[in-house]
Amino acid sequence: MQERAVRYRKRRKAVRRRRLLGVALVLSVAFGLTGLLPKPATDAVPKNRQRVLAVKEQQEQEADNLILVNGQNPIPEWYTVELLELENGEQVSRNIYGPLTEMLEAARGSNWNLLPQVVSGYRTQEMQQQIYEGKIQQFCQDGYTREEAEQLAGQWVALPGHSEHQLGLAVDINGATNGLYQWLQENSYRYGFIFRYPGNKTSQTGVAEEVWHYRYVGVEAATKMYQQGICLEEYVERYSGL
Ligand SMILES: [Zn+2]
Repeated sequence: MQERAVRYRKRRKAVRRRRLLGVALVLSVAFGLTGLLPKPATDAVPKNRQRVLAVKEQQEQEADNLILVNGQNPIPEWYTVELLELENGEQVSRNIYGPLTEMLEAARGSNWNLLPQVVSGYRTQEMQQQIYEGKIQQFCQDGYTREEAEQLAGQWVALPGHSEHQLGLAVDINGATNGLYQWLQENSYRYGFIFRYPGNKTSQTGVAEEVWHYRYVGVEAATKMYQQGICLEEYVERYSGL
């Protein structure tokens, strides 16, 4: 009796296995064996983690876009930048390459077909040091003492470590026409860039008007600054902590 019962169970198992195989076969054919069958649950963890990392990376990038660098605020020590090269050899952060080229193309369409050039993009600490030193030398040659020359140079050139160009998020644009600067002031926010040093904000920015200098902050922040007529210093003060 017992032996027969075991045999019976074995047979039932075999039948069930065959039935399961049959169902699997039908499913495989139905879904064309293209991987449409539900994936093992183990996949869910890394995928979810990827999504979390992607969101984190985006948030970090957005925070980087709003870093305030001026006379009082140096480049943060932890800051790093990934660079891409423009056609003329100038480099910019890879985060702004797309919107920058889009903006320059659009500007060209509105300004007699001249493609505006980025004459200065990313600068290293050494490059900024050289520019600053060069300015000091100019004033020394004009007869100023070293101390006076340093003070004067500081009014024209950002001190090394205090230039937005070291972020890779700022560019000096040469358009050969004033129409370009007018166009940029009215449209740059659509591409996430701001007219960083307007003449009426010198007391906040500490920099005299520079019509050629544009800074990337992202479309959302740039639009707010444009609509509210505020500079980055005011924006950071108004919205920090949000
Ligand atoms: Zn500049």
